[in-house]
Amino acid sequence: MALRNVTGAKCTLCGKVSPATPETTTCPHCGGILDIEYDYDYIRAGVAKTPLSQRRDPTMWRYMEFLPVEGVGDRPRLRVGGSPLYRADALGKALGVRTLWIKDDGQNPTASLKDRASAMAVVKAQEAGKAVIACSSTGNAASSLAGNAAAAGLSTFIFVPSRAPKGKVAQLMMFGATVILVEGSYEDTFRVSAQAIDRWGWYNRNAAINPYLMEGKKTVSLEIAEQLGFNMPDWVAVSVGDGCTIGGVWKGFRDLYSAGLIDRLPRIISVQASGCCPINTAAAAGTMEWVPQAEDTLADSIAVGVPRNPVKALNAIRESNGVVVNVSDEEILAAMRLLGATSGVFAEPAGATGTAGVKKALELGLIERDASVVSIVTGNGLKDVNNAIRAAGEPMRIPPDMDALLEAFAAGGVNLR
Ligand SMILES: *Cc1c(COP(=O)(O)O)cnc(C)c1O
Ligand SMILES: [Zn+2]
Repeated sequence: MALRNVTGAKCTLCGKVSPATPETTTCPHCGGILDIEYDYDYIRAGVAKTPLSQRRDPTMWRYMEFLPVEGVGDRPRLRVGGSPLYRADALGKALGVRTLWIKDDGQNPTASLKDRASAMAVVKAQEAGKAVIACSSTGNAASSLAGNAAAAGLSTFIFVPSRAPKGKVAQLMMFGATVILVEGSYEDTFRVSAQAIDRWGWYNRNAAINPYLMEGKKTVSLEIAEQLGFNMPDWVAVSVGDGCTIGGVWKGFRDLYSAGLIDRLPRIISVQASGCCPINTAAAAGTMEWVPQAEDTLADSIAVGVPRNPVKALNAIRESNGVVVNVSDEEILAAMRLLGATSGVFAEPAGATGTAGVKKALELGLIERDASVVSIVTGNGLKDVNNAIRAAGEPMRIPPDMDALLEAFAAGGVNLR
């Protein structure tokens, strides 16, 4: 069944367009990554007929015309999307920028932006008639797939590097996934999963291989635009690992522009960890020829030395006239503390990396202090409690009596009248 809004899947390498079927993965001609293309007249007509402001569905599926699906089935679905966009004045002041918003995508059902992609993967797997989905992941793609699949009654095989934080592994086990911890890098994990998927014919949720995932992720931008009344910010900051998220963020804004819903595009701030920044390094050198790097950062979700979607990521940076910023682990931990203490938003390290990048970009003079900026928090801090404590420190500990409390206050510099 052909989708009415989708015109095809265009290769990011050779440019050939092939049909978009539920099983579509990479380009049949050259193996390149595909990009789903739309009929924007169709989208425009749909949105004119039922304006977004009149839609009741608060989830990502409210943007149905923009999504490569006919319907979303009648299985129970998790509430993916509809995450809050906070005006963050105190944080903006601390960072030194006039207008700052935080898009808290850690508030998705499994607590990361990856839910947007996994919800899409589950629907496409069902369209393809598959009952088993597999993926390899640094952690969040896995936990979101396991959760969204569980809600739809599908089973999952999940490959994660053994370094994955306990919180994410706990989620996997709780959602009933078959979990394989691979003793190696993310690159090793990806390779083993690809072999297993080939061998057993499971539905493939590996980001970058599956072009539909980015279509789910782009809904974060559709929401940001709608939440801002379609008045675009100057900049949108996002953390980058494989490059699928930044690609999705940019795709969402481009779709809105092509459908005539916004009249200007924001510029993208691509933020990576300085211990693992192959995409930013290539972008800074003005080349598509990225070079693998070590995965040396505590931000496990973006510790991706061999990025799977460098083409779309680099295109997003270039086409948006964006900037790239690398931040140290210390800067990431500091951004986690700032987000928590000024805004009540609890981010995992990769979730706070975008915000760390806004601070750094201001310090480097890459963005103006009177700019308007949206920083996307991509994952919740409860997933990685060890690093949260590392960022925020340990509490006072006292025996249960008042004198001990007074002593602890004095030692901790807490001044009370
Ligand atoms: C996956 C992830 C990212 C980066 O997304 P990519 O598509 O790998 O670039 C950033 N933050 C969090 C919390 C993630 O889980
Ligand atoms: Zn191709």
